[in-house]
Amino acid sequence: MIRRKYVFTFDKADSKDKKLLGGKGAGLAGMTQMGLPVPPGFIISTEACLSYYERGKRLPDGLMAEVEENLKALESKTKSGFGNPINPLLVSVRSGSAVSMPGMMDTILNLGLNEDALRGLAEKTGDERFAHDTYRRFIQLFGKVALGVDEHYFDVILNEMKRKYGAGSDTDLDVKALAEICQEFKKIIRKEVQDGFPEDPKKQLGLAIEAVFKSWMGKRAIDYRKRFRITPDIANGTAVNVCSMVFGNMGMGSATGVAFTRDPSTGENALYGEYLTNAQGEDVVAGIRTPKPIQELRDEMPVMYDELEGVRHLLETHYREVQDFEFTVEKGKLYILQTRNGKMTTLATVRTSREMVEEGLISKQQAMLRVDTEELDQLLHRRIDPKAGIKPKTHGIPASPGAAIGRAIFDVDEAERRGRLGENVILVREETRPEDAHGFFQAKGILTSRGGKTSHAAVVARAMGKACVVGCEELFIDTKKKLATFGSERIVEGAFITIDGSTGNVYLGEIPTIDAEFDENLETLMKWADDLRILGVRGNADTPEDAIRARKFGAEGIGLCRTERMFNAPDRLPIVIEMILAGDPEARMKAVEKLFPMQKTDFKGILKAMAGLPVTIRLLDPPLHEFLPSIEQLTWDIERLKEFNRIIEAMEAIPESMKTHDHSLRRYVSPIEHVLEELTEVKSKRLFEELIAKKEEVLQRVRDLSEINPMLGHRGVRLGITYPEIYEMQMRAILEAAAELKEEGVEVFPEIMVPQVCTAQELKWVYSRLTDIKAEVEEAHKIEIQFKFGTMIEVVRACMRAGRLAEIAEFFSFGTNDLTQATFSFSREDAESKFLPLYNERNILQDNPFEILDVKGVGRLMMITMEWGKRTRPDLKVGICGEHGGQPRSIEFCHNIGLDYVSCSSYRVPIARVAAAQAHIKEEARKSSDRFDPFDISTYTGPSPSPV
Ligand code: ADP
Ligand code: MG
Ligand code: MG
Repeated sequence: MIRRKYVFTFDKADSKDKKLLGGKGAGLAGMTQMGLPVPPGFIISTEACLSYYERGKRLPDGLMAEVEENLKALESKTKSGFGNPINPLLVSVRSGSAVSMPGMMDTILNLGLNEDALRGLAEKTGDERFAHDTYRRFIQLFGKVALGVDEHYFDVILNEMKRKYGAGSDTDLDVKALAEICQEFKKIIRKEVQDGFPEDPKKQLGLAIEAVFKSWMGKRAIDYRKRFRITPDIANGTAVNVCSMVFGNMGMGSATGVAFTRDPSTGENALYGEYLTNAQGEDVVAGIRTPKPIQELRDEMPVMYDELEGVRHLLETHYREVQDFEFTVEKGKLYILQTRNGKMTTLATVRTSREMVEEGLISKQQAMLRVDTEELDQLLHRRIDPKAGIKPKTHGIPASPGAAIGRAIFDVDEAERRGRLGENVILVREETRPEDAHGFFQAKGILTSRGGKTSHAAVVARAMGKACVVGCEELFIDTKKKLATFGSERIVEGAFITIDGSTGNVYLGEIPTIDAEFDENLETLMKWADDLRILGVRGNADTPEDAIRARKFGAEGIGLCRTERMFNAPDRLPIVIEMILAGDPEARMKAVEKLFPMQKTDFKGILKAMAGLPVTIRLLDPPLHEFLPSIEQLTWDIERLKEFNRIIEAMEAIPESMKTHDHSLRRYVSPIEHVLEELTEVKSKRLFEELIAKKEEVLQRVRDLSEINPMLGHRGVRLGITYPEIYEMQMRAILEAAAELKEEGVEVFPEIMVPQVCTAQELKWVYSRLTDIKAEVEEAHKIEIQFKFGTMIEVVRACMRAGRLAEIAEFFSFGTNDLTQATFSFSREDAESKFLPLYNERNILQDNPFEILDVKGVGRLMMITMEWGKRTRPDLKVGICGEHGGQPRSIEFCHNIGLDYVSCSSYRVPIARVAAAQAHIKEEARKSSDRFDPFDISTYTGPSPSPV
């Protein structure tokens, strides 16, 4: 049997196979093969890791032999030797799975050092102190990471030694002190680990490889995979990269840094990054020393800077994507140590998408697929109102754009707790670590006092689209006291602060913010999206202002205009209540007539704002008691009013009862008499009695209207049929508005939509009223009115009767919020607060079906409904107006089953446009790749929340 090959050298490995080599390994191989200066090394594949676990945590047979072979080759290539006292080979051992994943093993640098190699390193570098310091760091890191010794022990020794040698910091320790520390470190390791510190470099390597494999199943790594749904088909096992060391810490001619081929915040096409001279590895990202912007390298090391410019172009033409890469300069020679796709702000993604298309690097389709629709939200986000003219109190480095307002919280768990309670929270820390991520999710923004744009806080905040300011160095944070101070200012826990991740400004208090604007890049991308999509996108809007915004964001119509919002306006509500309280149809008619001109004005406003485009107006939907005050409120009010009456009576009795008492008390009586005098008018008019009587009447009516299960009760079309005056008034208002606008020369396309329909008879009933009204209005105005009549589909029975409904309805609009409740028989609020989280956790349901359309259940119903509806009426228009209409995965489904349009809240319209384009691009790709059946739900890419 041919033994499987586990080890691949950078110059031979298949750089496209990220699954086998991990992202880091594939990148190192790719760069080596395109001629970039990568220090030689090799990759142990993810298959070796899987085999390690299959064998009950034992290294696969022959793996170490294969490693040794490769090590030999590496020695001859680098003309050095493992453990060699003259020219020692040192390597880094780095983990790396198919997707970049914090939580796995820390990289071990300088592996191969022992007493002999130490001499060699000192010899080679001519720097005794450097060699000892490197050795000290290696033993410490190796002890902690590979041998599992508690890092606390090392800190204690280090501090003791600093005291003993009177050293203020690590850098004050001399060779002698460092040598002693190394010995003490080894002693501790001997005490903690049976075999002690391994002097044999090969043994070191074996242990390090195993440590990498083990970290794949470490708690942090498992949690991370769970949180980001990294399934085995995305990444399975970690590779181990063994890479010969280069030194950025060999004096001022050496440096280490991190760079992006384009600016990850703005997308500007220019080298971007940070570096530190005389530093190694993690120093830049650790946020311990604040790094310098890469532009300074142009003066400090001009040749290196030019070389980096070359690297930038090579990387981009090869990967056709913005790259985030690591480099090290060792005594004037440049090395590249890692590359991966750059994580950018959405602003930057949009700009680079446009520019890379224009530069011919990628196609429009690829540009579209680069955009993460969920993140587009960021661009539509708010920023600080420049007109507010408020000066920031301090500032740091802008790391992730958008303004965020919240209470300063210094503890990660507390931030998570308060965030969950719905409070706006800004997490304030010195710096953050991978284990802090749970606090990020719940925070509105992150503020740190240390670190640069590539620090952990910055990277994670950008990835999550949270506002973030880092390196706010003026800030002194005392986590114990839960206090941050700067200058004479203090920020206590819970105090409001505002941060602006686009400028780095930090403000005390809540600062006014304004809406974001579309920039030219987004505008261009949106135009491409419109060219690339076939699914229509409409907005949900209840007011002319909403409609104007939706239109500005590119909506091609209004898919849902809810009339109840209009009923709730302060000037309408009393009339609406009057209508509800009316004892007989005549009294009701009177109130309805008062509402009519108001509704007509509403409809005119919205139809005019959408001139030339369709507007779907839904007739009244919610149960009537929603417009009335609650029983609790009324009972409370009545009690207070009665109490007030009693108080007045009591006050009236006071002057009388005072008479028989000490005369000096008289002076208290006069203000009371004064008050009583003022109240005589109120009293004489018996205002309170009337008010009480009125309230009691309302209370009685509220009791009459109250339902056991209002959402399944007297609402929607059922209400429209029992109180016909309401729907008739609304339909007349719509048609009159349309007629008047037509006379004014405005082109309008109203669509009248009936909610909660479950039988064709209901629809027929409403339609016959509409026909009469239409005739009347047309007669009065002597014009013909264009409009459509249709129904919401939100009741399961309506789905089953789609064929009949379509005889009357010219369009269907899926109200997937209610349809989801009806399909699952879940009430949304109860489900989300009681059992859905557990269902998700246990994988009984994959997602929250109220957020992500349940393709297998609700989606199936939609498909059946559409098919049966179209059999009756082939040109039936079908859309969706539930919240799912703005959710990218659900939009993809809507595209795939051939809906005419989605309708969503105005802010999500741009997201829907891009999502619709992406859906079409993906479908085209699928069609050309294999057989594609639009009615086979298993072919949809979006996972379904249905049972797994
Ligand atoms: P991470 O996955 O956290 O980025 P890396 O494996 O890239 O971890 O390594 C951590 C740091 O060590 C990086 O700054 C990297 O550039 C540096 N490093 C890794 N290997 C070498 C090497 N062979 N020589 C010099 N520096 C190295
Ligand atoms: Mg790295
Ligand atoms: Mg509904």
